[in-house]
Amino acid sequence: MEKTLLEQYRPIAEQVVQTAREMITKGLAYGVAGNVSARLPDNRGLLITPSGKNYGKLTAEDLCFVDWQGQVLEGSPRPSSELAIHTATYQARPDCRGVVHTHSTFACALAVTRTAIPVFIDELMYVTGGPVRVAEYGFPGSPELAQNLVGALTDVQAALMANHGVIGLGDDLAEALHVCEVVEKISEVYINALKVGPIFELEGWVIERQRKAFLAKKARQRGQ
Ligand SMILES: [Zn+2]
Repeated sequence: MEKTLLEQYRPIAEQVVQTAREMITKGLAYGVAGNVSARLPDNRGLLITPSGKNYGKLTAEDLCFVDWQGQVLEGSPRPSSELAIHTATYQARPDCRGVVHTHSTFACALAVTRTAIPVFIDELMYVTGGPVRVAEYGFPGSPELAQNLVGALTDVQAALMANHGVIGLGDDLAEALHVCEVVEKISEVYINALKVGPIFELEGWVIERQRKAFLAKKARQRGQ
């Protein structure tokens, strides 16, 4: 008998569950907010957390296998209502293998004021590869939101979504989660720094060098 998708992809399913739990324990999302997905290794679609499930009780059996048209192949019949931003991200970014979307507090404070994060701290470039832009507003779950988001994510690992939250992506789920964590921390620094005084953004030559270092790190990771 042919194996189920869950039997074939059990290790990646367990990673999705683990990442969703960590997203909650790290305080990046709460309740049923936020969602996590991974590209299937043979690129036949993605694996995503279900809609409305408390992540504390999430198991691999609760996840949804979905193809690139958004059709459920196996698992829970109700994938996350924010599925469109995940599928659009994987299609726009062939390098991306994991996506984490959170509603973390400080990043959301910037998202609701539609404030992009400039390159003002060394750590940002190494983790996100550039400034964190704000994708224009789109209704949650809509193709417009997905399209706006893709425009903000062309060459970086993170973006804010106007009046909504943050998205982080990576070569794997660990990177995607780390990106969300760093964006949250840097959002907190940014908001506090704005109270202290004017912020000095990094100079162009510094940003250029850091971007090169980021791209070199990515190439090493991918064995290029
Ligand atoms: Zn959301």
